Amino acid sequence: MAIIRRSQWGAPATSPAAYIGSTRGVKVHYLGTAYASRPHEQCAAYVRQIRASHLANKKEGYVDVAYNYLVCEHGATFEGRGVHKRTGANGTLALNLQDYAVCALLGSSGLTKPSDAMLHGIRDAIEELREHGRAGTWVGGHRDGHATTCPGDPLYDWVQRGAPRPAAEEPAEPKPAPSPKPPVKSVVDLSRLVAAAKADPPKRGTPVSYYGVKTVESALVAEGLLAREVADGHFGTATVRAYAAWQRRCGYKGPAADGIPGAESLKKLAARRGFTTTH
Ligand SMILES: [Zn+2]
Ligand SMILES: [Zn+2]
Repeated sequence: MAIIRRSQWGAPATSPAAYIGSTRGVKVHYLGTAYASRPHEQCAAYVRQIRASHLANKKEGYVDVAYNYLVCEHGATFEGRGVHKRTGANGTLALNLQDYAVCALLGSSGLTKPSDAMLHGIRDAIEELREHGRAGTWVGGHRDGHATTCPGDPLYDWVQRGAPRPAAEEPAEPKPAPSPKPPVKSVVDLSRLVAAAKADPPKRGTPVSYYGVKTVESALVAEGLLAREVADGHFGTATVRAYAAWQRRCGYKGPAADGIPGAESLKKLAARRGFTTTH
């Protein structure tokens, strides 16, 4: 997530806050007031409002918004004082010199739990402070070493775990592949097959007279009795010749092996080649 620079949300481009070379680490804060969830279009205005209220705080004498970064519930990271600027938020000068400060736009009532997007945004701020502001690796909450409940328990729990980037959403359980359906066995009707064998001239390319012919032809191809290219769905002369060869293989002779299918030879072929017969 890109960081929203000061000039992009309506602050002077550079903070007038005092320079700081490095810090022990980063302290995380929350607003500690009632805060309502709102559309992101309103977040920049809220950050401007925080800055205005800090500038108006005569007691603290802030010269700028007190935090180094502010993060909204949508995960946008607003540049506050930015890197190498001493925060004013940690409670005392010593604490401000010790750590940078990142504030979550999270309330003590209303919106109180950080979203994953917000945690990513806070993490973005911490990483920018480490990479460009010489922040050390320590990370904690405002309450560490100071009498305050800030940054609230839900956020502090995360901070105590080292402010980890939220894990990517678990991929949904892979769905088990649908178990393959048992193949539906073709049924070849003997009487229709015989009708096709008697009637079909070799008319390649014309509509198939009976789909069962194709099943028988495939079986004859598998038996090595018919060339694949003539297995065209028509019970033509090549198929008759091949079926006759099958009949001879079954032990039929002479006119009994005429290439016109009979019940017994067809049943044998069906048993070997995985289809069933009816008549
Ligand atoms: Zn705080
Ligand atoms: Zn937002």
